[in-house]
Amino acid sequence: MRCVVIGTGPAGITAAETLRRLDPSGTVVALSAEPFAPYSPPAMADHYLTGRDTTLYWKGRDVAARLGIDERREARVTGIDADSHEVVLADGQRVGFEGLVVASGSRLHAPLEGAELPGVLDFKSLRTADELVGRVRRGEATSALIVGNGFIGVELSLLLADLGVDVTVIGRRNWVMPRVLDPIISTVAEAALTRRGVTLRLGVQADAFVGSPSVTGVRLAGGEILSADLVVAATGVKPHTEFVTGSGIVTEGDVAEVADWLTGERYVHAIFPNAVTQAPIAAANLFGADVHYEGAEAMNSLKHLGVPIVAMGTIDEPDQVLRWQHGDHQRAAYLRDDRLVGAQLAGDIRAAGVYRSLMMRRTRVSRFGQRLVEPGFGMADIVSDALQLGVLSPNRG
Ligand SMILES: Cc1cc2nc3c(=O)[nH]c(=O)nc-3n(C[C@H](O)[C@H](O)[C@H](O)COP(=O)(O)OP(=O)(O)OC[C@H]3O[C@@H](n4cnc5c(N)ncnc54)[C@H](O)[C@@H]3O)c2cc1C
Repeated sequence: MRCVVIGTGPAGITAAETLRRLDPSGTVVALSAEPFAPYSPPAMADHYLTGRDTTLYWKGRDVAARLGIDERREARVTGIDADSHEVVLADGQRVGFEGLVVASGSRLHAPLEGAELPGVLDFKSLRTADELVGRVRRGEATSALIVGNGFIGVELSLLLADLGVDVTVIGRRNWVMPRVLDPIISTVAEAALTRRGVTLRLGVQADAFVGSPSVTGVRLAGGEILSADLVVAATGVKPHTEFVTGSGIVTEGDVAEVADWLTGERYVHAIFPNAVTQAPIAAANLFGADVHYEGAEAMNSLKHLGVPIVAMGTIDEPDQVLRWQHGDHQRAAYLRDDRLVGAQLAGDIRAAGVYRSLMMRRTRVSRFGQRLVEPGFGMADIVSDALQLGVLSPNRG
């Protein structure tokens, strides 16, 4: 079969790899809008700090040649002609397909006045990240303003601080990573950021990027203008689905929008593991398999803070929250109907797997009481509980 994959991000290259495995003699064309070998965005910060390429090019730079994939770079898709079974590229070329995987990921979404000004940077792709870090390395920038206090804004602030840049993060919500962390656990992240020299301006609305002819700063609601050498938008992401419009392919906003396996709510959990898990399923279904995706998982860990933090599940609409705190060591459990729907750990994250297991098994947790979030709660508690309930039998040798 002749298959075309749009995108060579974590999902696209995994799909291409699977297609090749399923059909060793078929043709697999993988198209990327970017000029790079398939790379992993989560590894970008580490790449700039250490100079290492191995985690960035996580499949190896030669993955396409090795697997016999026809990988085409700077091949931006602008349309899909479903009738003639062709994708249309920006330069007018048409690439025919019998099977198509759309794995075009997401791009920056900056719904702010002035976002189109020259010089507004982002850290979403390797191309924009290279430009941003290049300006620091060339000595053109010693200060930065990052609009957005989500995961990418925080990760970038730490990288820039480590590169010696004076960084300010502006966030509309008054705690960092509000979609991921609960407001109390986020104080651990905020303290770590402050210790690293990052200035946080939280609970502050950025109204516009300003400057002429190129951006020089940000105007806050109330009129205050902040200026810096680098002005970065980290305001969120939007699915790359423009080229799907009009093709007859149905999306509900995002091609990869799926149900959360725990809550059943439709959502985009834009994390690496969800991207690479969906890819082989899509590829196998192209070959007639009837494989269903179990649903996406919300799981984030923060690598560069200096204090480990893991957040999983949801913090929305709990009917009970249990919490344990001792300085940077914190745990929070979010419950609905006596079941764990979200858990957050800071400081000591070794028990993360235990909470994930409770969530996956939809175990009733009221019998654990406050012990659920206390240090030492772990697999032993679950096993002894299961023994008491008769769910497990002790091994009598
Ligand atoms: C700075 C940063 C840090 C992150 N850290 C983490 C982390 O720690 N843990 C985690 O789980 N996740 C993390 N993520 C999220 C993770 O990177 C994404 O979930 C993952 O990259 C999604 O993979 P994808 O293949 O779906 O899309 P993408 O990685 O966005 O790749 C999309 C691909 O499609 C191509 N493309 C797009 N439009 C077109 C077009 N029109 N024509 C042709 N090609 C096109 C692009 O060139 C690219 O090759 C991070 C993301 C960023 C930016």
